Amino acid sequence: MDKIDKSNAIKVKCVRDEYTHISHQPCENCNQKYAYKLCTQKFIQEDNGSYEVLDTQCQFCGHKKCFTFNVTESHQDVEKQILSTFKDKDKFYDLDWDD
Ligand SMILES: [Zn+2]
Repeated sequence: MDKIDKSNAIKVKCVRDEYTHISHQPCENCNQKYAYKLCTQKFIQEDNGSYEVLDTQCQFCGHKKCFTFNVTESHQDVEKQILSTFKDKDKFYDLDWDD
């Protein structure tokens, strides 16, 4: 079992935010910008939270860095979005009946 560092987990709203965050981090070793490239991506559920652990590597010097993201809230949002979509479908269905 991989140990994840939840205290340093960055809260994000979507996967795009994860990549944006990583791309804006300069390499800790060689200080180049837009250095880290994604190696592996893991989804972990633990203690009622949802986390994504992204292993990255600097494309200039090979320095490896692991980013942990907290996606618990965004996963709940996805559920809400699905529910609201179903509600809208009911509305459209009602309108069809009225016609
Ligand atoms: Zn580097």
